[in-house]
Amino acid sequence: MSPRRLVLFDIDGTLVDCGGQAKPLFAEAMEQAFGTAGAVDRYDFSGRTDPRIVFDLAVGAGVEPEAAMAGLPRVREHYLERLAGALRPERMRLLPGIAELVAALAAGGEVALGLLTGNWERGARIKLAPFDLNRYFPFGAFGDDQLDRRDLPPVAWREASRHTARAFAPEETLIVGDSLLDVSCAHAHGA
Ligand SMILES: [Mg+2]
Repeated sequence: MSPRRLVLFDIDGTLVDCGGQAKPLFAEAMEQAFGTAGAVDRYDFSGRTDPRIVFDLAVGAGVEPEAAMAGLPRVREHYLERLAGALRPERMRLLPGIAELVAALAAGGEVALGLLTGNWERGARIKLAPFDLNRYFPFGAFGDDQLDRRDLPPVAWREASRHTARAFAPEETLIVGDSLLDVSCAHAHGA
């Protein structure tokens, strides 16, 4: 049976809660690349892509935009290395109802499941691995793909059609997330 709908899940605050473990690792990677993490304690990470967070914090701390963009790969590498080694599953939480919901959607066969997250893909996979959720999400749109969440839905549609051999229209697509930016990225594309 060909899926009738595409459902795209955000990760942080939607599928899992990392218990605040990612932010200090992010700050550490920023300091390593730029000598400063900027206003990391006041910055609202919610709904923003990893590269957007790096860019905003660096530029906010006086780094030239070109230098901020050039430093992105270094922040990403350092952060992902640390995340892979330091993220403690016992301090993470699978959000209520997620295990049942995702399993039911996957079992029904009427829905194609994907991710739409600001995390770099490797970070996304690291966060989902302790709960064995990666098997439900064979594709997605990630922070590697775009700077702004609003530009991620077209990436998700492209990946969905590649993985399911079916094109999904915006009105057949549901984007599930916990921030206003999740909602606005859906509405911007008619999803
Ligand atoms: Mg979120």
